[in-house]
Amino acid sequence: MRIEVLGCYGAEFLRFKSCGFLIDNSVMLDAGTIVSPLDLEAQRGIREIFITHSHLDHIKDIFFLANNLFEEKGSGVKIYGTKEILKGLKRHFINGVICPDFTSIPQKRSSVISFKAIKEGEFYPLPQGLSLRAENVNHNVEAVGYIISCDHGYVVYTGDTGPTGHIWKVCNKLSNLLAVFIECSFPNGLHEMAVLSGHLTPQTMAKELDKLKEKDYPVFVFHMKPQYLKTIEEEISALNDDRISILAQGEEIDL
Ligand SMILES: [Zn+2]
Ligand SMILES: [Zn+2]
Repeated sequence: MRIEVLGCYGAEFLRFKSCGFLIDNSVMLDAGTIVSPLDLEAQRGIREIFITHSHLDHIKDIFFLANNLFEEKGSGVKIYGTKEILKGLKRHFINGVICPDFTSIPQKRSSVISFKAIKEGEFYPLPQGLSLRAENVNHNVEAVGYIISCDHGYVVYTGDTGPTGHIWKVCNKLSNLLAVFIECSFPNGLHEMAVLSGHLTPQTMAKELDKLKEKDYPVFVFHMKPQYLKTIEEEISALNDDRISILAQGEEIDL
């Protein structure tokens, strides 16, 4: 699979965008950034969006994507998440007040967007040959990470999380881990802030990686707060773990 990093940061500044990862030109992991790096043709290719939680930096471009596509006669974009996550989206965001209710605007075969509630712990197969499965993580709102299965192994994407356990236990039961995408938002000096807001620092991230039995895979770090990026980079490089690299916007990863 090919993963394109449309945005990978925990805040927005010049050249730093919120999290959005495009898999095989058609499946989004989170929707913090979709439209600004993609031309209209590429935006039309997006069929499914998997949301990790309801925070705005992970959902906001659902509006901009739907707003660009709603006049077209496409077949709609499906938004996946747990029942609770989708409830938050419908009630507080795509509610006809903050954002038009795109679920009621018809297209050729469906509405512009539609919601699909998924259960944690089950793989949902997609027509492209990938399957995705949500597993609980530990953030300050209900949040899940995703395990993505392709024909030669698994990729895990944590979304936003503080120290957690369940998703790693699930990964330890699956063999052939191809890559780990893990968040790391704050430098070690802001440990308290990280705990309060349900995020990781280089120190706590390293402890999370220790929970995985398999050790032979690349680790890609995302959701850094850009204002602390230099310190986070130094602290991650001090871990002396050559599996770990810090993601950059625009990067493409083939797994
Ligand atoms: Zn976030
Ligand atoms: Zn969050």
